[in-house]
Amino acid sequence: MKRAIAFGLAALLWSLGSVWNLVAQDLVITNTRIIVGNGNVINQGSIVIRGGKLAAVSAGGANVPGVQTIDAHGMTAMPGFIDAHRHVNTGPNEKEQMQQLLDAGYTTILSGGGPAEGNLTLKDHIEKGMIKGPRIIPSGRVDLANNTPEKARAEVQRLAGLGIKFIGEMALTPKPGPTAKEIENLKAIVDESKKAGIWVQIHAVSPQAMMAAVDAGVPKLVHTPHFGWLSFEDAKRVAAAGIKQLSTIGFGVPVFGVFANDNKPRFRDGQPWPDSILDGEGRGREAGYKAVNARTSWDAGVIYGYGTDTGYLPKAGLEHELKTLNLMFSMQDIIKLMGPNTASYIEMSDQLGTLETGKLADIVIVNGNSLDGYWNLLNTKLVIKGGVIVPDQR
Ligand SMILES: [Zn+2]
Repeated sequence: MKRAIAFGLAALLWSLGSVWNLVAQDLVITNTRIIVGNGNVINQGSIVIRGGKLAAVSAGGANVPGVQTIDAHGMTAMPGFIDAHRHVNTGPNEKEQMQQLLDAGYTTILSGGGPAEGNLTLKDHIEKGMIKGPRIIPSGRVDLANNTPEKARAEVQRLAGLGIKFIGEMALTPKPGPTAKEIENLKAIVDESKKAGIWVQIHAVSPQAMMAAVDAGVPKLVHTPHFGWLSFEDAKRVAAAGIKQLSTIGFGVPVFGVFANDNKPRFRDGQPWPDSILDGEGRGREAGYKAVNARTSWDAGVIYGYGTDTGYLPKAGLEHELKTLNLMFSMQDIIKLMGPNTASYIEMSDQLGTLETGKLADIVIVNGNSLDGYWNLLNTKLVIKGGVIVPDQR
């Protein structure tokens, strides 16, 4: 009898706990188009969020009494945007910058580079709720050119000790190609990173630098080359090695009307175009190389994800990258590369990249149908990160 009472009490407490969770954190989105991200589209469906995760994603309605319900008629829900290489760090403008990223639809950011300590501080500020911001994956930097293999190995271990999982900002000399010293250090870094369980990413902007990185065993490439044509054979070698690559496709393409309304082409930092493009052949050829090489990589089977390698304005930067991607990729391709491919690049496929049951509730809800054109991805109405509405722009 005593046992039965104890059991009944435990069950009551457990159910009260569940009710409390339901009220505190849960959310239902109904009447919406759902782009799952795995190729499936639900034309009219519902998403149930419980405890920050996707509890159900299905066609038709959802009857969950007592839970905040959002009618998203005429809108599309899709996986939260991930930029797998963006330059962020802590600093006096972090609050404003992080909110701008959320407003544009970014729910996860892999920081593009060091200093690692600043990235960790930024992550900490967001996780403690001091500021709102996307999920930050911190990274660090190891010097390639002015280093020794021993010091580089020690630096990898130091970063791993800080909790860093990605080494970000390392660049190989594009032409005539990487120096012997860069390659020697890179091989030591790749070897040490495997022991430490962290990932190495390389900026290789010419095909020869990229293939040198491949030969050195690098698992991730921040750029598609913009300094020469990528052959289909080389792209197939990248794919066969399981190396993942980011877009950074808007790099060579000018922006208009962002920094001044004077119809002058500018680089995305506001400096004159094409003069301020680094490592290229001039006259903006980089814009062509990037786009064509991107399609070559994709067709060869490379896991090609989304990254911008910039600190450029989040919304203008999103538009710029999407516009350029759209030259070579359909909206279906763009959704795959932004969602599952980018989640794969940041090694979070089990939690992000698609709207499937059990994953984190990171959702962007835009007006209209995302499949109609990239411009609809700029029409953000609601952004949800881990089940929490971060901006409501309805
Ligand atoms: Zn970078």
